[in-house]
Amino acid sequence: MSRFFSKKYSGLVPYTPGEQPKERKYIKLNTNESPFPPSELAQKMAAEAAKRLMLYPDPDCRELTATLSELIGVSSDEIVWTNGSDDVLNFAFMAFCDDEQPAIFPDITYGFYSVFAEANRIPYEMIPLNEDFTIPLDVFKQKKGTVFIANPNAPTGIALTVKEIEELLQSDPDRVVVIDEAYVDFGAESCIPLIRQYDNLLVTQTFSKSRSMAGARLGFAVGSKDLIADLHTIRYATNPYNINSMTMAAGIGVLQDEAYTWKNCVSIIENRGFASEELKKMGFEMTPSMANFIFVKHPEISGEALYTSLKEKGILVRYFNKPRISEYCRITIGSREEMNELLKQIQIVLEELL
Ligand SMILES: *Cc1c(COP(=O)(O)O)cnc(C)c1O
Repeated sequence: MSRFFSKKYSGLVPYTPGEQPKERKYIKLNTNESPFPPSELAQKMAAEAAKRLMLYPDPDCRELTATLSELIGVSSDEIVWTNGSDDVLNFAFMAFCDDEQPAIFPDITYGFYSVFAEANRIPYEMIPLNEDFTIPLDVFKQKKGTVFIANPNAPTGIALTVKEIEELLQSDPDRVVVIDEAYVDFGAESCIPLIRQYDNLLVTQTFSKSRSMAGARLGFAVGSKDLIADLHTIRYATNPYNINSMTMAAGIGVLQDEAYTWKNCVSIIENRGFASEELKKMGFEMTPSMANFIFVKHPEISGEALYTSLKEKGILVRYFNKPRISEYCRITIGSREEMNELLKQIQIVLEELL
């Protein structure tokens, strides 16, 4: 830390992203990226857009907004775009939390929520998940404050139903509920259709997972016009040109290529079923995942040992050295070939152990 670093950030512990090693070629099952390349149409449109990089991008993302708006049936003033959905989540902490409206979220969830709260100096409370890692909705309903819930949750993959979320929205119409749907396309139900009925609902999604565009950094939120207007205020107060022209073009391309996205999601869902069944045969336990990852533990091997052994064998998975989940590893669902290699290497790890 330099001696110039503002005191307001001293002690700030930043988010630790999953490893992106370059020293050898790993099978990457650690950051929930897609194993499939981006849509060809998206690639082509990004390349076209590169020819106009001397110009600023459209700060209102009008064409991208129109494309999404048609696809999901919400109007353009109910959508805001950001540089990855992490940015819109950060904006939501900035816009909808303060001393009177602390942030509340589960103790086991996306690690960035507490970082956003800390960085913005927002008080927050972490609600312990139930023993089986489901979300104690009754506790959330009784608390005051802005709710942040990943649905499906990470790293458990467990999903709430739209009806459960609706009851949470009704429990206090005077607080905002943010539903982070980063993984919703892998089998859970989106609550986007509720935004017209509940002006306290904000839903965020990302192009990083199901749409194979983690490198492009594109995410969005949808919600009532007024919530979205607040997020635009924050966006225009930081960086109005937050979506670069190539990403914007690629975003339009992938939205025009929905069949490709859905085909890939179906593959991931199939591979998740396949890998889960095979791992259960080997003695693994896991949470019921609706996401593009599974959260597994084995009675004979710790989460850290499994992570380390697999890394030596060229496979990266995610291990969290945190209370309650240190026995687990989170494994991203990849292609069928990657899953076969994973199963083969896990078999070897287990044999070496016994
Ligand atoms: C991956 C992820 C995000 C956001 O990712 P971006 O790449 O910034 O869009 C948000 N929430 C959860 C739970 C995630 O796993």
